[in-house]
Amino acid sequence: SIQSSQEAIALENKYGAHNYHPLPVVLSKGEGVYLWDVEGKKYYDFLSAYSAVNQGHCHPRIKDALIDQAGTLTLTSRAFYNDVLGPFEKYLTEYFGFDKVLPMNTGAEGVETAIKIARKWGYEKKGIPENEAKIIVAENNFHGRTTTIISFSNDENARKNFGPYTGGFVKVPYDDVDALEEALKDPAVVAFLVEPIQGEAGVYVPSEDFIVKSKAACENANVLFIADEIQTGIARTGSLLAVCGNCSCEGHCERGSTYTKPDMLILGKAISGGFYPVSAVLADDHIMEVIKPGQHGSTFGGNPLGTKVAMAALEVVRDEKLAQNARRLGEIFRERMEKLVEKYPIVKLVRGKGLLNAVVINDSEDSSTAWDICVALKENGLLAKPTHGNIIRFAPPLVMTEDQLHECCDIIEKTIKNF
Ligand code: PLP
Repeated sequence: SIQSSQEAIALENKYGAHNYHPLPVVLSKGEGVYLWDVEGKKYYDFLSAYSAVNQGHCHPRIKDALIDQAGTLTLTSRAFYNDVLGPFEKYLTEYFGFDKVLPMNTGAEGVETAIKIARKWGYEKKGIPENEAKIIVAENNFHGRTTTIISFSNDENARKNFGPYTGGFVKVPYDDVDALEEALKDPAVVAFLVEPIQGEAGVYVPSEDFIVKSKAACENANVLFIADEIQTGIARTGSLLAVCGNCSCEGHCERGSTYTKPDMLILGKAISGGFYPVSAVLADDHIMEVIKPGQHGSTFGGNPLGTKVAMAALEVVRDEKLAQNARRLGEIFRERMEKLVEKYPIVKLVRGKGLLNAVVINDSEDSSTAWDICVALKENGLLAKPTHGNIIRFAPPLVMTEDQLHECCDIIEKTIKNF
């Protein structure tokens, strides 16, 4: 077994593809908001595995569900029925308020699934001539890493030399309803695929009415509004979904007036609390019915182990009122960071919603300052990672307490002071 962090890093360097550039810390244990490295040093987690462990590391209720199901039945494939999938589908559709769900595994697969459903809906329900369907996406989007998804990215690093690219995508600036309305004039458009807050781009929160107006514009044009809530969903932004607006329900509300119902909702990451890859596309019958046997699927999608884990993970979100906690702590966090903006010229601004936040460092995009700050934060016991050159995302597990959050803000201030 591994004796030191150095040894683990050397092994990854030698035997693993270099498709990531991790912060130099080797983790071996997690519990709640904490992580420990191989040497036994304890850290606050301020990334939550890109918002997949909203429920905190190794949550006992989710762990019990996993262990229990792991000794009973893990995988049947969809060649047969199993006794867990139906109850999961009922639970999930009622939780989020849709007729049907199509379960997959990773976020990118969820996005691919939504793209396929939208295109098929376009041909069969909207009457678009074959192979002409277009999907509008936003500039600086991040929806995953498959060849089709990177085809409509404008991140050169994600795209370059992976062509030829999949066609049929049109880009408009993010948070620009006028540009969207212009693009919607094209009768071949079937869908608008969008993140309600752009996470990977650097936590860009759009204008308050962007989601409502975009959905209305799509509805007018008979175009599907697809929300990618893989990162923003499941309580992260202070409500169950980012499309809930300012409604702070825990998934059982009457859908307050600020809720915008997407035609398709894509979920991943925290739907399983970090225990198991589970993703899902939710839609109502008139859309989902275009998919017939043999037209889409996955060996592991909807398996008994993942679905039991997901149900436990969603129960935790509701029972522990994680959306409300994220909302309350998010306000405290931004207040504390605003003070740093006033006090230290290196801190340019803070933005975010709930516990999905970013601090922009006053330096150029290609500087290493944000990286250096993250390394110093690590030394001081807090783990965060830059998204782009000068932006640090701060997204702790949502089970954090107010005292812990203040302690973390103290660590951030103490670290920033030295830059
Ligand atoms: N969509 C969004 C908004 C994401 O943030 C991510 C991951 O960061 C994905 C899709 C892709 O998910 P996965 O990495 O599970 O494929």
